[in-house]
Amino acid sequence: AGAVACVSRIRYPVRAARAVMERSGHVLFVAAGAEAFAEAAGLEMVAPDYFSTEARREQLRCALAANATLLDHDGAAMTARATQTGVRPDAQSGAQTGTTPLDENRKFGTVGAVALDAQGNLAAATSTGGLTNKLAGRVGDTPLIGAGNYADNRTAAVSCTGTGEMFMRTVAAYDVCARMAYGGQSLEAAAHELVMTSLPMIGGSGGLIAVDAKGNICLPFNSEGMYRGFARVGEALQTAIYR
Ligand code: ASP
Repeated sequence: AGAVACVSRIRYPVRAARAVMERSGHVLFVAAGAEAFAEAAGLEMVAPDYFSTEARREQLRCALAANATLLDHDGAAMTARATQTGVRPDAQSGAQTGTTPLDENRKFGTVGAVALDAQGNLAAATSTGGLTNKLAGRVGDTPLIGAGNYADNRTAAVSCTGTGEMFMRTVAAYDVCARMAYGGQSLEAAAHELVMTSLPMIGGSGGLIAVDAKGNICLPFNSEGMYRGFARVGEALQTAIYR
């Protein structure tokens, strides 16, 4: 396992996480130390404003005005509503009715990936900008191994997205693997119990993507939608946003 947090200059943070895993003997680096480690590992560095876009600044302005802390997709929706002047393409396509939590044109949220290879190795990676309008120094679930991300060849690879504090409190990604290892649950049962029962019980919103050692895939979420997709060798790519 490897992770970095509180970084603003590493072009590809997941590569830095991998470098931590493979080259450091440690698991988690933060802030200046994480950036120095990534730079020394030869990874591409950028100025912090590389990650600053007008869409993101607009989301932050909306969040500040509403005095709210937002998930990436909430922020996109709020910005979309605030700037909406007509009918959006997703509304025209009839993807859903009512409000739009996931605006296709402005979605830049957390990205996760899980994989099972031909040798039976499971891997998970998750990258995020965190919550919009979070307090300085706040670390979410994403870089915390076991909370937002976990993989174990004996059970499953899990990558989470959602209200990070709740995923930390439930040790979400590890909870799925623990239910499988200790309780003998299937990936499907374990992931659904976490996402549909444990997280909602404490107000947790979001979902996860997971694959187990047998290649079973599970992508549950308790929010209105979650951008997701999966592929198996020799089969067509499947993608979805809403239920
Ligand atoms: N889980 C992330 C966090 O709390 C946010 C997200 O998944 O959108 O930082």
